[in-house]
Amino acid sequence: MYCRECGSQVNGKAEICTSCGVRPLNGKNYCQSCGYSTKSEQEMCTSCGVRLNSSVSSGQDHPSGLLNLAVCCFPLLGLILYFIWREDKPKSAKSVCKWAIVGFVLGIVLYIAGMLIGALSESMYYY
Ligand SMILES: [Zn+2]
Ligand SMILES: [Zn+2]
Repeated sequence: MYCRECGSQVNGKAEICTSCGVRPLNGKNYCQSCGYSTKSEQEMCTSCGVRLNSSVSSGQDHPSGLLNLAVCCFPLLGLILYFIWREDKPKSAKSVCKWAIVGFVLGIVLYIAGMLIGALSESMYYY
């Protein structure tokens, strides 16, 4: 296969490209199958039609349910993780971002509900 960073031929199981020192599937400049140059937003090679691989699909990018829950409780944590993972783990980053928003909205809803209940119990006090 070809290094997606520099386009030189590398062993299919190579973790690091011997030519540029980057993980071969980390790049977005060349097709891993035929070495044809590709653009970063491309999903398929225009030369050989193969689906362009990236290191993301190597199985390390699984959003964890427990983490989503934690992020839901602490939206700020999700925001931080989103910025850390944006480049390396777009899937996890996206999921974390989604749950941070859910947690944030939930927090506001709970806050409003708490105020309403407070106001309600106060008004009931007067009757
Ligand atoms: Zn390379
Ligand atoms: Zn190709």
